[in-house]
This record gives sequence, structure tokens and C-alpha cells, in this order.
Amino acid sequence: MIYKVKDIVVTKKNHPCGGNEWEILRTGTDVKLKCLTCGRIVMLDLESFKKRVKRHIPQDSQRETP
Ligand SMILES: [Zn+2]
Repeated sequence: MIYKVKDIVVTKKNHPCGGNEWEILRTGTDVKLKCLTCGRIVMLDLESFKKRVKRHIPQDSQRETP
């Protein structure tokens, strides 16, 4: 699966703030994510990131259809 900047991911485990939805800010060998609930930014290596993702919502599918 290809992850792109601005995609939304839902993780298996909640962030300590209770949220589990994240926006991708950067991809590569490390992935930078912003918690959509509290706004905190975290970095994960790609492998740990992939293990944590429960659902991936590509940015393309977030657009409303006309
Ligand atoms: Zn949070």
C-alpha cells in the first residue's frame, strides 16, 4: 500500500489523548504523523508505522464527489 502526505490513517492503538486518527505529514524511511485529536506530531519508522495502521483513507477518497 502506498501512503502519501495528507492521507489519513487510523491506528490500532489509541494515542494517550484518546484519538486514533492521524494525518500523514511526511513519508519515507520515517513517517511523520499528526494526531488529529490533540495535534501532537510523532515520528515512526516505516515498519512500525505499517504494523500500527488499522485503516488507511487516501486523500483522494476524502474529496467530495461533485
Ligand atoms: Zn493525540
